[in-house]
Amino acid sequence: LEPWQDPKAQPYVRIERVTKQFGDVYAVDDVSLSIFQGEFFSLLGSSGCGKTTLLRILAGLEYPSSGRIFIDGVDVTDLPPYSRPVNMMFQSYALFPHMTVEQNVEFGLKQERMPRRERAERVAEMLDLLRIGELRRRRPEQLSGGQRQRVALARSLAKHPKLLLLDEPLGALDKRLREHTQFELVNLQERIGTTFITVTHDQEEAMTMSTRLAVMEAGQIIQVDTPTGIYEYPNCRFVARFIGSVNLFEGKVVQRDGDEVLVETPLGRPMRMRCPQPLALGTQVTVAVRPEKVRLCAAFREEAVNQIRGVVEDIAYLGDVSIYHVRVGPGQIAEMTLANIQPRTEQALTWGQEVAMEWSPTSGVVLTD
Ligand code: ATP
Repeated sequence: LEPWQDPKAQPYVRIERVTKQFGDVYAVDDVSLSIFQGEFFSLLGSSGCGKTTLLRILAGLEYPSSGRIFIDGVDVTDLPPYSRPVNMMFQSYALFPHMTVEQNVEFGLKQERMPRRERAERVAEMLDLLRIGELRRRRPEQLSGGQRQRVALARSLAKHPKLLLLDEPLGALDKRLREHTQFELVNLQERIGTTFITVTHDQEEAMTMSTRLAVMEAGQIIQVDTPTGIYEYPNCRFVARFIGSVNLFEGKVVQRDGDEVLVETPLGRPMRMRCPQPLALGTQVTVAVRPEKVRLCAAFREEAVNQIRGVVEDIAYLGDVSIYHVRVGPGQIAEMTLANIQPRTEQALTWGQEVAMEWSPTSGVVLTD
């Protein structure tokens, strides 16, 4: 049982109905959220959705217009930043310009009066983790943006804090270093047991690193779930489209069968989908199916449960997969992804060909927005 599935588990961080207004802008709009010890939690959303403001409220750098913040069971809403058991890594890094990389990383440990030997070990561990050992004697002005970011990360992790807030921690790193650092960061986080709350607009990063994530839009939390939950069971069209690609077919419920519904669409036979919510007949819905859950067949099969016919309009070869765009109706293109398990030359489907797309009732969700 994960802590968030356990009604008796005490959250480490509890955000209770927090709102933050700047003039008429609701930067954060009635947000409630529980985060548990040891989680790697991400606030994910596009620019301006309020994720940084929420992080700053947790750190004590902004005071909420209403609502309370609890950390480890204590109401910290009225505490200044330095009295909260929180470390924050800023997007701007805030490195000390007159100190070397090594001194920057060591700074907090010295303040804490950690013994010299242990301090040296800890600094070495951090320099090693972030691969900045060769830069140890340089000052921030002699570093690139990505290098500064790694120093800032090393400095904020050095104390092995219990709660670390990170604003776009990997934003300045190039793709390879970023992917590498994602895994290292998760490993380190598991080892030292720090609770991480990060802010990111990068879906892939949030999906790779998080135990759970909150998708935000316009100051509100739209969905909170594990990466798998968000991807497989998005609760609305916005989330379905925000993470990954998705086919959305609009229609209405025409029949119920236990936990399945039949959805009539303009695209052929009604679609049969699993749907645990009790939807009334006639409800307008959207069937959402991920491109990789679709089978693309050259032959039509009468017995197929869900099938749409169409014509291959274009094919993009991406190496590991190919993306097929299939025209399934006037103005509607459906997308599917096929893993390139066979060499490309052996694949039969080509541009202009008539095909059928098939999927099972459990390979997608029925959305009501
Ligand atoms: P980004 O990814 O671009 O940093 P974000 O999701 O972190 O965006 P916030 O920085 O939290 O978004 O901003 C949320 C909203 O609140 C925005 O509309 C922003 O313009 C507004 N806002 C944030 N800080 C202030 C402020 N100090 N004064 C006025 N408006 C603000």
